[in-house]
Amino acid sequence: MKILVINAGSSSLKYQLYDMTNESVLAKGLVERIGMDSSIVTHKPTGLPDVVEVSEILEHTTAIRKVLGLLTHAEHGVIASIDEIQAVGHRVVHGGEYFKESALVDSNVKSKIRQLFDLAPLHNPASMMGIKATEANMPGVPQVVVFDTAFHQTMPEKAYLYPIPRVIYNKYKVRRYGAHGTSHEYVSKVAAEFLGKSTKDLKIITCHIGNGASVTAIHEGCSIDTSMGLTPLEGLMMGTRSGDLDPAIVPYVMNKEDLTVNEVNSMLNKHSGLLAISGVSSDMREITEGMQNGDANSTLAFEMYEYRLRKYIASYVATMNGVDVIVFTAGVGENSVVLREKVCENLTYLGVELDKSLNEIRSGESRRISSANSKVEVLVIPTNEELVIARDTNRIVQSFA
Ligand code: ADP
Repeated sequence: MKILVINAGSSSLKYQLYDMTNESVLAKGLVERIGMDSSIVTHKPTGLPDVVEVSEILEHTTAIRKVLGLLTHAEHGVIASIDEIQAVGHRVVHGGEYFKESALVDSNVKSKIRQLFDLAPLHNPASMMGIKATEANMPGVPQVVVFDTAFHQTMPEKAYLYPIPRVIYNKYKVRRYGAHGTSHEYVSKVAAEFLGKSTKDLKIITCHIGNGASVTAIHEGCSIDTSMGLTPLEGLMMGTRSGDLDPAIVPYVMNKEDLTVNEVNSMLNKHSGLLAISGVSSDMREITEGMQNGDANSTLAFEMYEYRLRKYIASYVATMNGVDVIVFTAGVGENSVVLREKVCENLTYLGVELDKSLNEIRSGESRRISSANSKVEVLVIPTNEELVIARDTNRIVQSFA
């Protein structure tokens, strides 16, 4: 079965075409600047040269038509006809309390995703545009939605409720939902396989640290707590997001600076985190470079980032009364030798012992970076959210076949 995985943003659309007989990627790519004056399409067919095209793509239906054109192109294509694509899997950020697992798209599922627009105003409408654009271009092809929040639906009430008047939850469903669920679930399973164990027998802390970042406590295979909350703003300090802060700061600053709701949201989501403290960049590579060149603000940004991550890891040890495995994943987690080293240096009280030479190895493979004596296994597991979406789509479509 060939499956197209789509991750639609408000002005972008990422795609990967999988051949599920061997889970190989036939092609992947990205359409950027949808709805703007010059859209950029980057198409990467496996085994063929990359293609970059600039054209005018005003909405998602045209973007998908363009992608399908490239996938079947005489020169850059990887399939003879779009009929070869038997199903489409979509990443959807917010599944609210409705979705505890992935689902086959029907009118009921679409209506629920729409009801969640309020909770994810930037993301869910974009996913819906991706679903509608797929329907328009590929009528009758089954579609599956895979939610970033679904894996965290196993959290107990004590972890997902906020200590605010209950009516706010009852009326508006304000609670912790978390995010990056497909990634946390995937790397925890790969970690258990790597160790030759079952997730049922492990206490795992997964650190998904990319531009957005979150930590999850996974006990007996289930997410029991996670650092992102109602939205992906809570928790760790991130590239441009603040993460945790005293909520009283929000009205205080709004009042002092005469900010609107949109402005304060933008400040905390786009102008905070590493970017705000370093004054240089939201990119950990540039922060590390700044730190190595003795830049005080980059050093402070790195130290705050590491300190806050370490505090979360330690608090999740408390939620599970122990930890067997710590996993690092995503752009920073998979690549930043120095961040992993600093975090582990300060977890020796748990029996964490890093093997510095293993930590310095650069590889795209799953690997152990703790020493043979370490009481906690520390692993680097490359994440693959698209593969999870393709697998779920395959499984669900087969079960309805
Ligand atoms: P996203 O959350 O957008 O999916 P990624 O998981 O791809 O992001 O992570 C992107 C981040 O990974 C970049 O902003 C960069 O800070 C970080 N990164 C990538 N390579 C390295 C590296 N070699 N060293 C440190 N950080 C890196």
